Amino acid sequence: MKRITVFCGSSSGHDDYFCAQAEAFGHTLAVRNIGIVYGGARIGMMGALANGALAAGGEVIGVIPGFLRAKEIAHEGLRELVVVDTMHERKVKMHELSDGVVALPGGFGTMDEFFEMLTWGQLGLHAKPIGLYNISGFYDNLIEFSRTMVDQGFLNHCNRQMILDACSAEELLDKMERYTPPAIEKWVTRSELS
Ligand code: AMP
Repeated sequence: MKRITVFCGSSSGHDDYFCAQAEAFGHTLAVRNIGIVYGGARIGMMGALANGALAAGGEVIGVIPGFLRAKEIAHEGLRELVVVDTMHERKVKMHELSDGVVALPGGFGTMDEFFEMLTWGQLGLHAKPIGLYNISGFYDNLIEFSRTMVDQGFLNHCNRQMILDACSAEELLDKMERYTPPAIEKWVTRSELS
């Protein structure tokens, strides 16, 4: 992977450990020579991630809609800040610029972005690895819920395996490097569920 898109919170969370790990993740990516595409803010988890990568000499590209530029307090120290018109354009641009996706802890925005990438993958619109960095078990319930989706017949287990999760950054990136996308179509039939 040359570059990955990282989705994460515009907030910092209550525990300082989250931002410390976001910063460390930025550092790890820079050391592995993987560029970052992210939401372009200098606040919260987003800012910590960018600062970690920049401090280690990594490539960091921000993508932010004009109307959010002030609200999310754009990071002015980036190599490139791409300003787009809409939230949708932001996701498309981030997707175009990268060859993998990772979600760190965050809120609704992070989830929206993460699930949009999963659904695009499910529909065969891309074949990129999608990682969930499960810092301090933050995503345990989401991982469990995705199993419920399979158990209850709303998600094909092959598509569930598109979610690559790990509690360690190195392990997550290794999984992503080895990823092969599911060969099946989205539409779930009764025989596929058994
Ligand atoms: P959050 O996880 O809610 O802190 O948001 C993380 C990032 O997602 C921020 O840059 C938000 O601007 C962005 N975001 C929030 N809502 C959406 C949305 N509906 N679609 C795409 N991005 C969003």
